[in-house]
Amino acid sequence: MIQLFLPLNFLGFVYREIRRALTDLENMLGLLKRAPEIVDSRDARPLQFSAGAIQFNQVDFSYQNERPILQQLSFNVLPGSKVAIVGASGAGKSTIARLLYRFYAISGGSICIDGQDISTVSLDSLRRAIAIVPQDTVLFNNSIRDNIRYGRPDASEAEIDQAIELAHLRRFIDSLPQGDATQVGERGLKVSGGEKQRIAIARAILKRSPILLFDEATSALDSASEQAILQAMREVARNHTSVVIAHRLSTITDADNIIVLKHGQLAEQGSHDQLLAAGGEYARMWQLQQKQHN
Ligand code: ADP
Ligand code: MG
Repeated sequence: MIQLFLPLNFLGFVYREIRRALTDLENMLGLLKRAPEIVDSRDARPLQFSAGAIQFNQVDFSYQNERPILQQLSFNVLPGSKVAIVGASGAGKSTIARLLYRFYAISGGSICIDGQDISTVSLDSLRRAIAIVPQDTVLFNNSIRDNIRYGRPDASEAEIDQAIELAHLRRFIDSLPQGDATQVGERGLKVSGGEKQRIAIARAILKRSPILLFDEATSALDSASEQAILQAMREVARNHTSVVIAHRLSTITDADNIIVLKHGQLAEQGSHDQLLAAGGEYARMWQLQQKQHN
């Protein structure tokens, strides 16, 4: 009797924890003033994921006012490829990530995954297919471990440990008296930008989505940690479609295709070598960054 009771009690605990995490997420979305009109269309179907092809077709978008942010933006991400999006601050890179995750509705054109317009599929299935490491990660008022677990609440403890290793969080966690039970978030331990990014990366690794979306996910890390994490991300991204928004161009020279965004429009695209040879916007940015880092 007691043997049966204890696990059930524990399940109740887990259930409440998950409810709490979800409530936190709802609060967070509320705080960030996500457009409330983003809901499933009445005849929404689940996304039928196959190879992971992403298409932006002449996408127009503006936030609340008329100021156009993206204009007639078209690009393709081939299944299983790694595409990088680069461009000056304010060019619209993070906006692309938000639109793919359908935080906002576009005003023209379409965004498709494996040939399905994302505005016609259920939000739940869309967001399950994409693991996003946002530019500014929000940590819940919870333990580090639960913040990672949130990536996939039914993951095993071993899978969480593996995500911790891959995101190079072990040393940080071991340095804390309470380890991964340490409370973080607004009311907990203050963690640095780099540690927060690593928690977000662990969360995304755990989620095991077929599409990975990194928005300047390593910008707060020093060069050595960044290289280590980039290597881990390459392992994780193998055979996945990945979209990497990058500020430091040296981190994306291996991308299959690099999209150069300027004022919300496609300025040019190609491989690192092609773009350098073309001597355009990308080549200018590259030369500028080479000077700054030497
Ligand atoms: P990037 O990631 O390339 O630096 P963003 O996609 O974040 O650029 O922003 C593109 C443009 O949209 C910027 O001019 C920015 O000020 C504007 N913008 C971003 N978020 C919002 C928002 N929530 N409301 C209104 N304007 C926004
Ligand atoms: Mg950005």
